[in-house]
Amino acid sequence: MIRRQLGMWARGSSSVRRTRLIVSHLASCPDCDTIATMLAEANDELHATARSAGTVTGLGARS
Ligand SMILES: [Zn+2]
Repeated sequence: MIRRQLGMWARGSSSVRRTRLIVSHLASCPDCDTIATMLAEANDELHATARSAGTVTGLGARS
């Protein structure tokens, strides 16, 4: 079941070999492709939140 692995994949914690399998599956499976896109976007938002939190506390905000 590829779907269970999409979360790991979206966090970038899948092996190269598994990532290849997932990517080739996504190319042929619109359902999983939609889920993968959603997970990737949710992940980006987490990162963006972490970045802006760092800015608020002054971390990484030095110019
Ligand atoms: Zn699928």
